[in-house]
Amino acid sequence: MTTTTTPITVLGLGQMGSAIAGTFLESGHPTTVWNRTAGKGETLGEAGASVSATAAEAVRASPLVVVCLLDYEAVDEVLAGVGDAIAGKALVNLTSGSPGRARTTERWAAEHGADYIDGGIMADPPDLGTSNAFLSYSGSREAFDAHEATLRELGNSTFYGSDAGLASVEFMAQVAIGYEMLIGFLHTLRLVQAEGADVAEFAERVAESMAGGYRPLLSAIGKAVRDGEFPPDMGPLSVQAALMDDLIDHRRSLGVDVTRMREVKKLMDERIAAGHGDEGFSSLFALLGG
Ligand code: NDP
Repeated sequence: MTTTTTPITVLGLGQMGSAIAGTFLESGHPTTVWNRTAGKGETLGEAGASVSATAAEAVRASPLVVVCLLDYEAVDEVLAGVGDAIAGKALVNLTSGSPGRARTTERWAAEHGADYIDGGIMADPPDLGTSNAFLSYSGSREAFDAHEATLRELGNSTFYGSDAGLASVEFMAQVAIGYEMLIGFLHTLRLVQAEGADVAEFAERVAESMAGGYRPLLSAIGKAVRDGEFPPDMGPLSVQAALMDDLIDHRRSLGVDVTRMREVKKLMDERIAAGHGDEGFSSLFALLGG
């Protein structure tokens, strides 16, 4: 188990890397930082961090090396310059990317004698170090166990398994669910606004139902998809589909985009035609590929 005296190196001092380094510094870790463009470490330097001239020099300073760069192209470039200096270190890569990129970086780390932990950050930089920050981790269980207390200083931390890609699976899925739901939310706000109703008040009511009413529905849908059995959540598809033409016409009459609702109706019709009209909304999952 690490303590607040564990020295840490942070490579990358953009918005997020700076927040990470700042959090560790405030917790009392001897912190070494490096950034491609010189100057970004100045404030951290004034606060007590050691600013290195090269990434390799920064890596040599600490047993725990945290990387947070724009993307994996940047990670590959920076790690190529670090080379064997990484041997014997725990390398924690908090750069966002795909599971495949995480697994490739894990192989690079293994070839260079380092333990690899991949991570995803679900938080804005100012939330780092608070309970509003959520981080997913996967890769070397041994290294995670050794540095768990330190990593928890960044926020709520969950370890998803020894496959280095799993943290990214969680991260990508959380980002995707956000986009999928929020684009539907934006479409609906367009509809509410077009009818002259108060969008902010409507949003408040949706927020309340998300905390209450939708919660059991999300859990029920997750279970239905896992089990491959789709009970009539939100009512049977045959009943839900009967409303769809009105719903689409209403949108169209207000000039609100109907693409996603047409897609929903198409999927419902397809499931009903295949004899699944007594199943619930979760049943559409069967048509989503994979
Ligand atoms: P910034 O754009 O603020 O910083 C990018 C960092 O990457 C800088 O340090 C930059 O260095 C460095 N960089 C880019 N390309 C290269 C390269 N080829 N070689 C070396 N260094 C390079 O991004 P953030 O800090 O906001 O994001 C970092 C990671 O954190 C991303 O993967 C992002 O998805 C993730 N993240 C960010 C969130 C946010 O709200 N900001 C939220 C959740 C995750 P230089 O200063 O020299 O340009």
